[in-house]
Amino acid sequence: MKRIIIVFISAALLLLISGCGKNNITESSMSAADSTADSSSTVEQPAVKAMAKAHSTEIIDGVTYIDGILIVNKTYSLPKDYNYGLTDETLESFNKMKKAAAKDNISLEIASGFRSYEEQETLYKEYSAENGQKEADTYSARAGYSEHQSGLAIDVNGADFSMVGQKDMKWLEKHCSEYGFIIRFPKGKENITGYSYEPWHIRYVGKKTAKEIKKQGVCLEEYLGVDSEYK
Ligand SMILES: [Zn+2]
Repeated sequence: MKRIIIVFISAALLLLISGCGKNNITESSMSAADSTADSSSTVEQPAVKAMAKAHSTEIIDGVTYIDGILIVNKTYSLPKDYNYGLTDETLESFNKMKKAAAKDNISLEIASGFRSYEEQETLYKEYSAENGQKEADTYSARAGYSEHQSGLAIDVNGADFSMVGQKDMKWLEKHCSEYGFIIRFPKGKENITGYSYEPWHIRYVGKKTAKEIKKQGVCLEEYLGVDSEYK
């Protein structure tokens, strides 16, 4: 009888010990998992970048398409004679969005849509003369490098930094992806896009892509794995 009790107690002790052991193991493996997660997020970045490099690039008549999406930024320019105005899809989608916004008592107007190479050249020269080229480059594109020439970009209600935080800009940020647009130069991505935060400048990419870009919280450069720098 005594023996049985001793065996029972040791079994209970063993259970306790192994219980503690288990807890310790769980804790240490959890912290190990945490530190793995931390280090893997830094390790993962090059992997993500490597994946981004696997995008398909096509150049058709001097226009670059990455994964079928037209790209214009400081790296990728448009031919001087790329002169087609706003695309039908861009205009139709904007008009749909405008109607929806009106229901929320928000007025959306096209302040600037398509701009030709020549118009951009004049605009950029003015800004450069006014503020110097270095500063002008943070908010205005050089001729041939403006997304406005693509016919896929619109400045909504103006192009002025005092518009940041206004209710129309907030509405745009919240809803434009539902109509296939992205805020092209988002806050916090200035070093990647090469431009200051512009809540008014939207770019048509189609609903599916716009929603995906919004969900991922990335800018178009990150989404397509490209840079934006004058070479
Ligand atoms: Zn713009």
